[in-house]
Amino acid sequence: MLLNKVLRAGMRCGVVRLQSSSATAAEAKISGENTAAATGFSFEFTDQQREFQQLARKFAREEIVPHAAEYDRTGEYPLPIIKKAWELGLMNGHIAEEYGGMGLSIFDNCLITEELAYGCTGVQTAIEANSLGQMPVIIAGNETQKKKYLGRMTEEPLMCAYCVTEPGAGSDVAGVKTRAVKTGDEYVVNGQKMWITNGGKANWYFLLARTHPDPKCPTNKAFTGFIVDADTPGIQVGRKERNMGQRCSDTRGITFEEVRIPKENVLLGEGAGFKIAMGAFDKTRPPVAAGATGLAQRALDEATAYALERKTFGKVIAEHQAVSFLLAEMAMKVELARMAYQRAAWEVDRGRRNTYYASIAKAFAGDIANQVASDAVQVFGGNGFNSEYPVEKLMRDAKIYQIYEGTAQIQRLIVAREHLAKAKK
Ligand SMILES: Cc1cc2nc3c(=O)[nH]c(=O)nc-3n(C[C@H](O)[C@H](O)[C@H](O)COP(=O)(O)OP(=O)(O)OC[C@H]3O[C@@H](n4cnc5c(N)ncnc54)[C@H](O)[C@@H]3O)c2cc1C
Repeated sequence: MLLNKVLRAGMRCGVVRLQSSSATAAEAKISGENTAAATGFSFEFTDQQREFQQLARKFAREEIVPHAAEYDRTGEYPLPIIKKAWELGLMNGHIAEEYGGMGLSIFDNCLITEELAYGCTGVQTAIEANSLGQMPVIIAGNETQKKKYLGRMTEEPLMCAYCVTEPGAGSDVAGVKTRAVKTGDEYVVNGQKMWITNGGKANWYFLLARTHPDPKCPTNKAFTGFIVDADTPGIQVGRKERNMGQRCSDTRGITFEEVRIPKENVLLGEGAGFKIAMGAFDKTRPPVAAGATGLAQRALDEATAYALERKTFGKVIAEHQAVSFLLAEMAMKVELARMAYQRAAWEVDRGRRNTYYASIAKAFAGDIANQVASDAVQVFGGNGFNSEYPVEKLMRDAKIYQIYEGTAQIQRLIVAREHLAKAKK
């Protein structure tokens, strides 16, 4: 994987420097480095982060942007792009080095995600769904499970999926009805899942199922998380859903009928599933927010370029104050969404509970992606409403950011809960 090589080469030749705690502020000023150590706060990326960003940016501009409209039209899964991204190390970066990954931070992953989303969020969602599927294994898997299921993703370009939502249980995860019953050394699973990204492409699934039969059993004891090989007998994959946007991403229903899962594939222990499934979001919502930011940045760039070319009443429309102020509002939103996801990622990378920041970032970036894409359509006028131009796709693609990984309303419930808990202390 190229990025892996870049990273290691960088480390070898000292490109990747660690902050020196002994450097004085004056030294830091003179060298232009160690600003974070000197001030405790910095907007500067490391050389390594700039390399990640540049590589992902180049890849998105050269390999994704030219093909995005066609994938949107056909709904075909973007496997050739995914394979190239995998070869360059732009996927699975957060898998630890001992399992063949690069052990990247959530922050670094977010930088990559924003760039990929700029190219096409259908492609980015297909890639990001791998992170979502892997995260329960990363946070709760034992050594053997990690080696087997994470290791395989770094050996070949495989996909996985997070299999939680059901036709009757989306926001209300505790309403999951899929049942897993222990029989000897196995669990037998029956149930139906819905809206599973990478559902038809996954090599394995993270599955949440109810293991406790008593409906009064507390949520944090009633569910269990499993790793399930996708080729296990009894798994039926539904048809690919035809969605409003992100059309090349593969979303399906999955039926489990008498599916036998070995007990070795239980994550952490019986009853721990709900906590694992929800805990993954602290690390996956910042990248979702980064994806929404990438889409918004693309909409802003497209609108700006158009506004500097299109003329009405004898001047380019960017010179009409109403249009320039619209662009200014769009720019403000993009900048703030970026700061929100970076804060959420930074918090969790420091080992701190970031639920509050992750939900703020997800809700804010999801909302502004929709507003900015809609404003971009406005700047394009009639052309904005037409599929020959890029912004109508952005507007359709943006909507899902207010729905998946917790709706805009659910994020507000979380932010309110966290905020009020702090206020009551
Ligand atoms: C394209 C796509 C990809 C997806 N990928 C995956 C995936 O990979 N894995 C997976 O497990 N799931 C996935 N999902 C499912 C997604 O996470 C759910 O659709 C989402 O959580 C909402 O659940 P729901 O659709 O059941 O809506 P509902 O929960 O029925 O919500 C309907 C509406 O009611 C609101 N609402 C619900 N409860 C409350 C409340 N308490 N307070 C205020 N408002 C409320 C919601 O915000 C929403 O506006 C995907 C969905 C889509 C569309």
